[in-house]
Parts: sequence; structure tokens; C-alpha cells
Amino acid sequence: MDTDTLLSYTHCELCPRRCGADRTAGERGFCGMPAYPVAARAAAHYWEEPVISGEYGSGAVFFSGCTLRCKFCQNYEISTQKHGFALDSARLREIFKRLIADGCHNLNLVTPTHFLPDILPALEQKLPVPVVYNCGGYERVETIRALEGKVDVWLPDMKYSDAKLARILSAAPDYVEVAKAAILEMYRQTGPYVMENGLLKRGVLIRHLILPGQVDNSIGVLEWIAGAFPRGAVAVSLMSQYVPMGPAAKVPPFDRRITREEYDTVLSWLYLFGLDRGFIQDPEAASVEYVPAFDGSGILCTEVSVQYPVISRRFIAEKSVLSTQKGTDFSLRSK
Ligand code: SF4
Repeated sequence: MDTDTLLSYTHCELCPRRCGADRTAGERGFCGMPAYPVAARAAAHYWEEPVISGEYGSGAVFFSGCTLRCKFCQNYEISTQKHGFALDSARLREIFKRLIADGCHNLNLVTPTHFLPDILPALEQKLPVPVVYNCGGYERVETIRALEGKVDVWLPDMKYSDAKLARILSAAPDYVEVAKAAILEMYRQTGPYVMENGLLKRGVLIRHLILPGQVDNSIGVLEWIAGAFPRGAVAVSLMSQYVPMGPAAKVPPFDRRITREEYDTVLSWLYLFGLDRGFIQDPEAASVEYVPAFDGSGILCTEVSVQYPVISRRFIAEKSVLSTQKGTDFSLRSK
């Protein structure tokens, strides 16, 4: 399949779902999104990992809809309920420029894949800051290849090592193998991560959210990362912020937060596998704060906005990030 055919809303095959929906004719695939970008917020974001947010924030554009729609999604309202505001390529470029003019350290595209036919033209001219691709890890290798040279920092989730869990929670029984292949392709493009003045300039930072009652799933993810990449070449962000949300909130064990024992067990395996580059998250960070996060900020709109509870991300490494004199390294350390 050539790039033009791949990056098209007609017979859409942008993501591994490969629905074949003609979004230009009003059909909707699994993501439920139309043939133009929809976003819920475009503003400086301070709650990513410190190497992404830095002092002045990451220029985050939160796109609506999702190709995974996990039942526990912490942003369930925008990923599944499709709240957002219509955009086009030209407007996206304006938004990117404004975020950069506001001093954001990078451009952070959050869940962008299902809008790539409009996003890619907006990235055509090189931007003066790194482009961060913030996604759920469930990506086609072909699509990731089409982004080569446009993305500087890959920020994928690796949610599962357990295919059954991926099927139950994300309706994606092929998630494990698909995400592994996608993340390997991301690493092929960037090589080992590069830091500059305490910020990630290039490379792969893999996120994993510990789920309640799913310690083995987490250990499997960490084991794969440790075996798939040279030691210290990719960074890992181990997140403990799970709060019951969405449909999963009614189904045990997903109706509770993770326990201290679960957290400590996964953390011990992180160290045992030698994954000592990245971030761990204070388990106490798993709190819901009522803030106007997805209110259309930074996006011209007329639609009525609503407020959503979002999760505060406080990373332990905020306090312990270790930059060398040259600012080329950072380490995962306990509090
Ligand atoms: S981007 Fe949406 S419509 Fe296209 S293949 Fe994926 S889920 Fe289906």
C-alpha cells in the first residue's frame, strides 16, 4: 500500500483495526471519528514526565476519539464520548505555532493516529521544537514508518503483555504483538534517547500503567522491554495513577486502585530487569482532581464545553531527576 492510500480517510486503514470505513462519506469506524480532526484542548501541559513538560510545559494537543477505547480509560470522556471541536490542517498549523510561541518545549500530539491525513501536512515544514507522538502503542508499523523524520520523541504506552487482558479491556486481542512491532519501529527510527538541558529531544519513552490485580501483566511488559532494547537505550515511565473510571469501574478488580503491595512488586521487577532510565510515579498521585482540562482551550470553537475530572500525574522523578553537567542523562530513582 502506498503512503497516499495508507494516509487516507477513504477506506480508512490508519490503525490496526483497518476498518475500511469511508470516513469522507460519513461512515465511521471503530474510532468513531469523522474525516477531519477533532480536538478537545491545545495548551501548555505540565503533568507529563518532567523531561517532556519541563519548566514551561509541553504543547499538548488532545485529539478526540481513540482507536483503542480502553474500558478503564482515564480520559474516557474524550476518548469515547467524542467531545471536541472540529479543525483542519491550516488551523492545526496555527495552533502548533502558537504553542511554540507561548514557550512550550515541544509539540505533544496526544492520540493523533486517526487524524494523520490532516496532521501530517501540518508537520510538513520542520518545527523548531521536538514533535512528541503520544499514543496507546496500538499502531501499524506502516503508519509509524510514514511518520519517519516528522516525529522526534515517541511516547507510546505498552499496556499489556497479556493478550486476554487486551481483548477484554481494549477489544484488541492482537495488542501485544502489534504494539511490540510498532515500538521496535519507533526505536529503529530514533535510536537511544537523547537529552538536552533536562529535556528529551529524541528517542522512545515507554509508559506502562499498573492495573489492579494485574501484576503479572506488568511484569511481562517490563520483561519484554528489558529484552528488546539495549540497556538504558529507552526510558520507561511506570505509572501507578489508576483510578476506576469508565465501564471498568463497575467490574472487580478494576473497581479499585492498585494496592501498595502490587505497586511494590512491580517496582521490584523494574529494578530487577535493570530498567533504570525513566520515571516512577508516586502511588499517592492516584487522585481525581476536578479541573477544566478538556474545555476547548486553545481551539477556536463555538461548541459548549464541559469540565471533566482528570488525573493528576505527579512523578517521583520530578524531585529526583538527575541531569548530568551536560544534561544528557536522567535516572530513575526512588523518593
Ligand atoms: S483510524 Fe478509525 S476508522 Fe480508521 S482503521 Fe482505525 S479505528 Fe478504523
